[in-house]
Amino acid sequence: MSLTKAALQAGMLSRFHRSVGQVSLCAVAIRSPPAASTSGPRFSTAAPLKMNVPQPECLRKPLNVPSKLLMGPGPSNSPLRVHYAMMKPLLGHLHPEFTQIMDEVKEGLRYIFQTKTEVVCCVSGTGHAGMETTMCNLLEPGDKILIAQNGIWGERAADMARRHDADVRIIEKPGDTFTLEELDAALAQHKPAVLFMVQGESSTGVLQPLEGAGALCRKHGALLAVDCVASLGGVPFYMDAWDIDVVYTGTQKVISAPPSMAPIAFNDRAMTKVRTRKTPIRSFYSDMTWLANYWGCDGTPRKYHHTGPISAVYALREALAIVCEEGLESLWSRHEACAKKLHEGLGALGLEMYVSDPKKRTPTVSTIRVPEGVDWTRVTKYFMSNYLVEISGGLGPSAGKVWRVGLMGYNCTPENVDLVLRIMKRLLQMPQANPKSQRYRKNSH
Ligand code: PMP
Repeated sequence: MSLTKAALQAGMLSRFHRSVGQVSLCAVAIRSPPAASTSGPRFSTAAPLKMNVPQPECLRKPLNVPSKLLMGPGPSNSPLRVHYAMMKPLLGHLHPEFTQIMDEVKEGLRYIFQTKTEVVCCVSGTGHAGMETTMCNLLEPGDKILIAQNGIWGERAADMARRHDADVRIIEKPGDTFTLEELDAALAQHKPAVLFMVQGESSTGVLQPLEGAGALCRKHGALLAVDCVASLGGVPFYMDAWDIDVVYTGTQKVISAPPSMAPIAFNDRAMTKVRTRKTPIRSFYSDMTWLANYWGCDGTPRKYHHTGPISAVYALREALAIVCEEGLESLWSRHEACAKKLHEGLGALGLEMYVSDPKKRTPTVSTIRVPEGVDWTRVTKYFMSNYLVEISGGLGPSAGKVWRVGLMGYNCTPENVDLVLRIMKRLLQMPQANPKSQRYRKNSH
């Protein structure tokens, strides 16, 4: 009798293995535990301990998730095709079928970053993990980093850089963009090892132009690292042509996959810095040499670094396939057209944009000035409680001053723009809710 047949008869194979007809040695490994030794020291007592923590009552109820339209600065909704991808069977994180999917993700990322660089992969974590990975790989104690800060993300980057004992220098223009002349002067003054910039500042709604910044960094011997979490896919971005050394993004904005990973790319200049560091990278999890190996970017066999988020990688693969099917040029012009429609519609309702120059606005996250004396929370609550539509308030320098409306990826449609404008219009027509009416002001105090 075969080992499997004997095991089946003895009831030792699990129901799963029987139902799929798989013959697997792991199944026959299910055995009775060895008899407990009766002599010598023992860790366990005969009587089980009394449970101090019972099963929580809340977990007996079915999972309840309302369906909301996420028109804030992120996450945005994902297409069903992306959700379905996550229902595919789990694979092991080094199985060839899975590493093949990782390679497909890398190709999609090279397209969306517009790069042919070797080291393109994902950090398992959200956009912040991309920022942390950038800082901990590029900076050694005492290294100078210049941060072009025009919103909260520059502040966060400075905080992270300080944690790595970097010498942090800041130039600040909250809610505005930096010119090449300003960058040139600051690079000449501070002589940093790294210049950090944010393309789409989701806290202020500013779009920082990047063309020319890479050439300046090369002139001054610095690396250029760019956060494009809230902009990639919504506006043109060319990693190679713009001489950008490091870039990272998030999955949950324009790409429209669930929040889960931070796609990231390091070019050869950046990897040379990583490989010639005098001090070890302080985070094992974010070490780019390990990540590059796990993602098959260093020409050596992949080694176990961490367990990749399998289902999230499937979702990203499908979301990138959708981006590739539409094409970047079409995606960029869809974002431009929808943002223009939104801004014009808001103007017609008498509302003002926080970033007054339309050329300086990121189309992905629009910041709308909250009129004087108005409680912004009443408007966001009205959107949510009446329509299950999320718009959000400000963040960092824009806190309390703006509403933020996201138009990203799957959610960036003329229909969604119309919906936001219709709700805003209705709100403005209601005396008890109209931010501009006396009654609203009285009610809000
Ligand atoms: N950078 C920018 C520009 C962002 O908009 C965000 C998220 N709003 C982040 C970084 C951080 O990303 P996450 O919340 O996914 O960690």
